Amino acid sequence: MLDVGRHPNIELLAYSEVEKVEGEAGNFSVTVRRKARYVREDRCTGCGACAEKCPTLVPDAFNEGLRNRKAIYSLFAQGIPSTHTIDADHCRQMNGKKCGICAKTCQAEAIDFDQKDRILELNVAAIIIAAGYDVFDPSQIPEYRYQEIPNVVTAIEFERLLSASGPTGGHLDRPSDRAIEADIEEMEKSAGKSQKALVKFEEKYGESSAAFYEKYQSGAYPDDEDRKKWADKYADHLTVVEPLEALRKKAEGFDVARRLAFIQCVGSRDFRFYPFCSGYCCMHSIKEAIIAHEHGPDTTSTIFGMDIRAVGKGFEEYKIRGGNHSNITYVRGRVAEIVEGPDNNPVVIYEDTRERKVKRQEFDMVILATACAPSKGIAALVKTVGVELDPYNFLKTSPLSPVDTTTPGIFVCGCAESPMDVPESVAQASSAAERAAEIVFQTDLIKEKAVA
Ligand SMILES: Cc1cc2nc3c(=O)[nH]c(=O)nc-3n(C[C@H](O)[C@H](O)[C@H](O)COP(=O)(O)OP(=O)(O)OC[C@H]3O[C@@H](n4cnc5c(N)ncnc54)[C@H](O)[C@@H]3O)c2cc1C
Ligand code: SF4
Ligand code: SF4
Repeated sequence: MLDVGRHPNIELLAYSEVEKVEGEAGNFSVTVRRKARYVREDRCTGCGACAEKCPTLVPDAFNEGLRNRKAIYSLFAQGIPSTHTIDADHCRQMNGKKCGICAKTCQAEAIDFDQKDRILELNVAAIIIAAGYDVFDPSQIPEYRYQEIPNVVTAIEFERLLSASGPTGGHLDRPSDRAIEADIEEMEKSAGKSQKALVKFEEKYGESSAAFYEKYQSGAYPDDEDRKKWADKYADHLTVVEPLEALRKKAEGFDVARRLAFIQCVGSRDFRFYPFCSGYCCMHSIKEAIIAHEHGPDTTSTIFGMDIRAVGKGFEEYKIRGGNHSNITYVRGRVAEIVEGPDNNPVVIYEDTRERKVKRQEFDMVILATACAPSKGIAALVKTVGVELDPYNFLKTSPLSPVDTTTPGIFVCGCAESPMDVPESVAQASSAAERAAEIVFQTDLIKEKAVA
C-alpha cells in the first residue's frame, strides 16, 4: 500500500466515487467525485490531535462497531493518505451545533468546514474494477442466533478482537463480558453524579445518607420537604449502586475466551444462499485458531466443517500443524443450531458424521466463517461503468478470460470477480493490469500511426 502511495505512475484518488463512465476501450471518459473531507490533505499531518479532543463518538465501522471512533477520524492507522476526515453526518458543527474544537486544536490549520466535493474528469484507455466483496450477514441463518447470543461472532469481528490494534488490544474478551463492563462504566458515571448531590445534603445535615435514610423510612421528618428530596435522591442512588455492586462482583470472575468453536461454510455451500465454496475461510479459521493459541497456550479450538478445504501449496501441512501444535480439533459435521447455555456461553448442536451421533458442546465463543458475498454497492457500480454481473452478482467473466468483463477495455480482479484469497487476488490484479496495459499500448500505437 505504501509502495502504491509512493509510485510515480500511480495517482491515488482515495475517498472518491466514480459517477459516470462513457466511451470505449482506448478512450473512456470517467467522472469522479472527490468527496470533501473537510480537512485539507495538503496540511493535515495525521497527528490525531483533533480526534483526541473531538467530543463526538461514532461506532467504528473498521472495527466492526466493536468500539467507537470520533467524528473526525482516520479510517485505520496505516491508511494512505494518513489525512483525517470529518464525518459530516455526525459532526456537531456540521449539524448546526456549536463545536469547532478540532479546528481550535489543529496546529496545522487543516480543518476546513467550507470544503466542497470536487468533480474530476479523467480520460483513460482502460478500467479495472477491484471493488472486492462483503461478508455474508449470518442473521439470515436464524438457527445460529448471531446477534441474539452475544458470544457468537463473525470471523471478521474475531479478527478485530485478535488484533493488537483492535478494540481489546488482542485479548479475547467475550462480547458479553465487554457489554457488562460498558454497563459498569455507565453506572459508575451515574452513581458518581448522584453521589455528588448526596454529599451536599450530608454536609448540610452532618450525617451519612444511609443513616438519615433509615430514620426517614421509620417515619422521621414527616413534613420536611428538603429531607424528602434527600430521601428521593438516595433511593434513586440505590437503584444504581446495588445492581452496580452485583455487576462488579460478576466482573471479578471474567476471563478471556479459551474454548473456541469455528463454524465453517456459513452461507457458503448452502443452496439457500451461495452454493459455491468461498475458498479462503477454511484457511482463515485455522489461522485464527493458531493465533488465538499463540495468545493463550491453553486455548482450544474446534473447527466444524463438512470438510476442510486446504487447497494450495503448504496449506494441508498448515492444517496438520494446527492440529498437532495449536490444540485444534477438526470435527466433520454441519452445525444444526447454536443455543445459549449458562453465562452466555454458546452451545453448539451438531451431528458428528463420522460417529453418526448428534452431540452438544459448550464453548466460550463461537466464530462464524461467513461466506464471501458480492459487494453491496456492486449493482450501482456496474450500472455506472456498463458491465454485466453473473447470477450471484459477481462480475461476469468467461473461464478462458477470467479478468475480462463483458465490455472491452474494462477488466476485473479479486473478489469482485469471485471469492479468492489475497495471493490469488494479487495475481489476478497483475493479470488485469497487463490486460489493461495492452489496451494502452494499442491506443498509443494507433495514435502514433495516425500522426505518422
Ligand atoms: C475474516 C477473514 C479473514 C481473511 N483472512 C485472509 C488471510 O489470512 N489470507 C488471505 O489470503 N485472505 C484472507 N481473507 C480473504 C481476503 O480478505 C480477500 O482475499 C481479499 O480481501 C480480496 O481482495 P480484494 O482487493 O479483491 O477485495 P477487498 O479487500 O474487499 O478490497 C476492495 C476495496 O474496494 C473498495 N470499494 C468497494 N466498492 C468501491 C467503489 N464503488 N468505489 C471505490 N472503492 C470501492 C472497498 O472499500 C475495499 O477497500 C480473509 C477474509 C475474511 C472475511
Ligand atoms: S467540529 Fe467538533 S464534533 Fe465536529 S469533528 Fe470537530 S471536534 Fe468533532
Ligand atoms: S473455504 Fe471452507 S468454510 Fe469456506 S466455503 Fe469453502 S469449505 Fe466452506
